[in-house]
Amino acid sequence: MFCVDGLVLQAKKRGEHDLFLQVLTADRGRILICAKGGRSVRSGQMPVSQPFTYSNMEVYEKNGFLWLKGGSVIHSFYSVSEDLESFAVASYMVESVQDFTDEGVTDESVLRLLLNLLYALSEKKAPPDLVKALWEFTLLSLSGYAPDLQGCAVCHKGAPAFFDIQNGRLLCPECKAREEVRAPSEDEREESRMIAPVLDETLAAMRYLERTDSKKIMGFPPLGPAGRINLEQLAESFFLYHVGHSYKSLSFYKGMKGEVEKR
Ligand SMILES: [Zn+2]
Repeated sequence: MFCVDGLVLQAKKRGEHDLFLQVLTADRGRILICAKGGRSVRSGQMPVSQPFTYSNMEVYEKNGFLWLKGGSVIHSFYSVSEDLESFAVASYMVESVQDFTDEGVTDESVLRLLLNLLYALSEKKAPPDLVKALWEFTLLSLSGYAPDLQGCAVCHKGAPAFFDIQNGRLLCPECKAREEVRAPSEDEREESRMIAPVLDETLAAMRYLERTDSKKIMGFPPLGPAGRINLEQLAESFFLYHVGHSYKSLSFYKGMKGEVEKR
């Protein structure tokens, strides 16, 4: 038997009473744990078997599976379920983290980032759209896709005003214009559309996020409404471009936002 601190990403029904838990841990990566009686209210396993719950779990190995013996809750972020938009963003985070984690592969920084942002979401430290952008941008940066934000990547002189989503770099207006002139083929024109304006305040926030420990993630320089929208759009395009596919939970979030805006 061993003890492990883990966050339940997903709980899938297994038979009438049991659950298969997908758990993200600091020292064993993403693991699958079977909770016998995890669906029963009388079971002591129920509190630690809830999605968005971070617990110290007692686990044993039998017949090639990991089984939950018991445990105690360290922190439950289940209150994100009380608000539909927060719930949608939390679901998107736990769905997309699967592309960045693996069984046996330990990366504590990803788990820390997820815990800190679930906390921000459950405590309403920031609006859900902004938490989503912080997740997308910082997760990519932690996972080896950190963009080069020093200055214009071509001339190293002009003030950067554009973010090149595909290459993760900045361009000044002159170098951006030159890139576009040089793009005669359909494919290259498509690529040049992936160069989007970046505001100074957004760039300041991105620079902060790229180098800051996730514990201090909410301390980024303040963003006005335009800077926030700019960050949200850039983070999502940058994220989806590198992941290469969308997510069910993201479509749900977008559909829900569309409904809210129509009202
Ligand atoms: Zn330049």
